[in-house]
Amino acid sequence: MPKLATHHSCTGCMGCIDVCPKQAISKHIGSDGHYYVKVDPEKCVECGLCERTCPVVNGSSYGKESPARSYHAAWSLNEKIRKRGATSGLFGAMAGCVIASGGVAVGVRMEGIRCRYFIIRSPEDLQSAQGSKYTASDPEGIYSEVRTELKGGRRVLFCGLPCHVAACLSVIPEALHHKLICVDLICGGVSSPALLEIFRKSTPDFSAVKSFRNKKYGWKPSGFKYNFTFIRNDGTESEASRDKKHLVTDGFACELTDRYSCYNCRFALPSRKSDITIGDLWGDKDYPAQHPEGVSLAMVHSTKGEELLREADISLNPVDPGKALLSNRRVVDGRSVKQWFPERRLFPFLSRHLSPSMLTRIYAGDLKTRNPLWWPLALWRLVSFRIAEKLMRRRSGRLIERLFRNQ
Ligand SMILES: Cc1cc2nc3c(=O)[nH]c(=O)nc-3n(C[C@H](O)[C@H](O)[C@H](O)COP(=O)(O)OP(=O)(O)OC[C@H]3O[C@@H](n4cnc5c(N)ncnc54)[C@H](O)[C@@H]3O)c2cc1C
Ligand code: SF4
Ligand code: SF4
Ligand code: SF4
Repeated sequence: MPKLATHHSCTGCMGCIDVCPKQAISKHIGSDGHYYVKVDPEKCVECGLCERTCPVVNGSSYGKESPARSYHAAWSLNEKIRKRGATSGLFGAMAGCVIASGGVAVGVRMEGIRCRYFIIRSPEDLQSAQGSKYTASDPEGIYSEVRTELKGGRRVLFCGLPCHVAACLSVIPEALHHKLICVDLICGGVSSPALLEIFRKSTPDFSAVKSFRNKKYGWKPSGFKYNFTFIRNDGTESEASRDKKHLVTDGFACELTDRYSCYNCRFALPSRKSDITIGDLWGDKDYPAQHPEGVSLAMVHSTKGEELLREADISLNPVDPGKALLSNRRVVDGRSVKQWFPERRLFPFLSRHLSPSMLTRIYAGDLKTRNPLWWPLALWRLVSFRIAEKLMRRRSGRLIERLFRNQ
């Protein structure tokens, strides 16, 4: 039997399913709501292809020896695309450019409460892909579709989580890489799809997710206000997280239901095999006039990446890399002590036995209450999060200092 990634290290990239010639690997939902894989020993012929492809066990690194080529403060110059993007519409601008030149792009969209990758062929398709979906996404089958597009001679822009980009690069034969452009996100981890499932079950007139975050309340270099919006059965929109903590978005921010691989992410590296890395330019003080519409951090790792950023309708501006990384530790540091928190350990059990409002208190930190029974948890949350934040900041500060000392 092949030795694939363990429960704690598997990223759910589904690369192994894609390459298995015997369809011996299948996806299932684990007790924590995340996607995992299992091998059917009856069908497996022990060819080892899945082991050689899995980015976690095949021994290859997602990092590059050389430092990132350049860092930019960037934003889309198309107003509508910029508004629809979670940050500044960089992905939308690059995807639009690739599609206009006869290629295709890959992003994710919500299908009910599931978040899935799909091929974007037109500007209309692009609208549903724009914006961050704060839940684990399912890449099953997408790498085969990418391979088909590349074999057909089309340029493909693949945008997704770093672990999924690593799988894409591992599954797609190197001979086809020249037409493949990979953009990965700065990634703080993915919350359990169980949060959306719990929300759906407790909202009888829920019809579809509209967005997890948009710029109705602007963008600030110190963060943003989540506004999880969904559509009801009668077609009206409801802003679920307007005045109170919400299980889906604050549950994502608490990081207490993440995949275990996200607490020890091996893809959070300053220099990567992707062509470009994009995220929020937290901490920015140089472009205040741009803040209401969002400002991105774009890190370029290759010539292909540099060319696409210049080809697309994007404003590129200088940024101090040290300052940018200090405000966004997930570029360089994938470790988090929250994997040891009892709330994370107990999530599979509690998610099955507690009511949605109790789960919102625990996993979305909705702890402002007069009920003294919740006070010990409120105190623990305050202390444990402060200590965790301090430890993690100290660690990433050291990593960033070492990074720039060596360059
Ligand atoms: C789970 C998650 C965690 C993140 N954590 C951080 C962080 O810690 N720091 C930071 O600076 N930025 C983080 N980001 C990135 C940030 O939210 C924006 O996605 C990024 O800045 C790109 O914004 P944009 O406006 O250029 O593009 P957008 O239009 O927002 O789209 C970017 C691309 O992301 C894809 N995408 C959205 N959600 C998912 C998903 N769940 N799985 C796979 N692909 C997805 C879209 O399909 C699209 O291809 C995170 C994003 C996600 C999805
Ligand atoms: S060893 Fe080969 S046949 Fe067995 S699960 Fe892996 S890829 Fe499939
Ligand atoms: S290839 Fe991806 S889904 Fe398969 S075992 Fe490895 S990490 Fe998990
Ligand atoms: S934190 Fe790492 S392992 Fe988790 S989804 Fe992001 S890239 Fe993948």
